[in-house]
Amino acid sequence: MAATKTPLENIVESLGPTLSSKAQIHLISDAKIFSETFTSWSDLNKKVPSAIIKIHTVGDALETILWATSNSVPFVVKAGGHSNFCTIGKEGVIIDLSNFKKITLHEDSVTVQAGTLTEELISAVYPQGRCVVAGGCGGVGVSGSSLAGGFGPLVGLHGLICDNLLSARVITAAGELIEVSKTKNPELFWALRGAGMRFGLVVELTLRTYPLATLGSDDGSIWEMTLMWGEEQLEDLVEALNGLGWTKGEATAYFGFAHEKEGDRISPVCLAMLHYFGPTSAAEAYFRPLLSLRPFHALNTPPHVQPGRIPYNLIDALQLPHQKHGGFKSMFGAGVQKLSAPGMRKIWETYTQFVSAHPDAFRSIVLVEMFSMEKAREIGRKDDTAFPHRDVNLWAFPIVWHDDPNTEPAATKFGNEVRKMFQDEEFRSGHKVSAYVNFNRGDESILDTYGNEERVARLQGLKKEWDPKSLFGDLVPRLK
Ligand SMILES: Cc1cc2nc3c(=O)[nH]c(=O)nc-3n(C[C@H](O)[C@H](O)[C@H](O)COP(=O)(O)OP(=O)(O)OC[C@H]3O[C@@H](n4cnc5c(N)ncnc54)[C@H](O)[C@@H]3O)c2cc1C
Repeated sequence: MAATKTPLENIVESLGPTLSSKAQIHLISDAKIFSETFTSWSDLNKKVPSAIIKIHTVGDALETILWATSNSVPFVVKAGGHSNFCTIGKEGVIIDLSNFKKITLHEDSVTVQAGTLTEELISAVYPQGRCVVAGGCGGVGVSGSSLAGGFGPLVGLHGLICDNLLSARVITAAGELIEVSKTKNPELFWALRGAGMRFGLVVELTLRTYPLATLGSDDGSIWEMTLMWGEEQLEDLVEALNGLGWTKGEATAYFGFAHEKEGDRISPVCLAMLHYFGPTSAAEAYFRPLLSLRPFHALNTPPHVQPGRIPYNLIDALQLPHQKHGGFKSMFGAGVQKLSAPGMRKIWETYTQFVSAHPDAFRSIVLVEMFSMEKAREIGRKDDTAFPHRDVNLWAFPIVWHDDPNTEPAATKFGNEVRKMFQDEEFRSGHKVSAYVNFNRGDESILDTYGNEERVARLQGLKKEWDPKSLFGDLVPRLK
């Protein structure tokens, strides 16, 4: 007698006929097929599933959730694939949203399907003469970044990404498609804005858009500059950066350490990637304390519309290979109140020692994202959301990237050490340790991630109500 097939063995026959013609079910028999079918930001700790379902319509998403829940098959959702939490082992399937990215423009908002990437969102609204609050890296998923809070260059002007979420459509664990907004399921709407990957599959998000004129120019251009200095100017740089105060919404920066490669030679540098929303003269006046420190290198990322200026739709603050899929990469995030000169010097030494011992890790970087949180705080005083970290000023996120798999133990040790240094009192200035769930590695505590016991209890209550079997949000720390 033929053995009865398990639901996973039977997936093509049982789920296939319910999906639209463009949806795809990929059976994954081994790691090679997996790597040909699926990419994500890091190749570390990738688990190999039994199947990947590339959905194409909301109906596909609904049928897939119904199939998985009725057959007790665990699943994870992959949108942009930039987290550590978008793969699952043989016991389950990946619901891949990378072909699910329709964008619909409205007069002052935009609706995106959940597989849309940041660069696709920005490029879609730009020809309409509008901009949208989105992450700083074009390749990151809109849904992953929005639902956890969302930082990006426009936060100082218009608040966090989640502050600009007007509504969402969500497939719940019960297999229903519901609307979520301030007036429909408002408690869930509170949770979606800060802890939004944990309650259902968010299939669509509607985000507010703004006229390009809010960026302070007539032609939709912004000022941008990348500067590099030698280590001897580190303390002066920290003083200048702290002196800028970061209360002005027009200015943003990424500051940190990287390696420049010339032929076979790699040399560590201090670097700052600056953006200013306003005229060039105002940008140069604002950043004068940095510009006057005489960088040895000053670059504009082409194409510029005139020296120092790029069209806003090409903003991709990092423009770095670090955001692309593939490679052995990991991120170690920490909330910071202000830079500490002695602290940055210790981090510089740890960083340069690590790369000199492991030259295959020369692309590793240490970055601190600097922008004003004033607008986000003002919004937070009027409108309660689950996002817990409005009191944090800056976010540090070292990215460790190595080619040799044997470097991994040293890479993790280095990343943990640097994160610990950023969590030190000299960077926190009396504030508690803060962990942004989107930068989490998996060892962060629930209180550091969601801020306080009251918020954790409220989220846990909603988790029980909307997803009692914990089907969604296989990211850590878990909400139990
Ligand atoms: C290079 C780099 C740059 C970054 N820059 C920024 C930045 O500028 N600002 C910022 O805020 N963050 C940033 N991040 C963090 C980023 O926001 C998180 O990694 C985020 O989780 C990525 O979302 P994703 O959709 O790309 O990832 P995924 O791994 O696909 O998804 C992340 C998690 O959310 C779940 N999920 C995704 N979509 C949905 C959905 N529609 N419904 C339910 N669950 C879902 C997934 O299952 C997974 O657990 C950056 C990360 C990297 C690696």
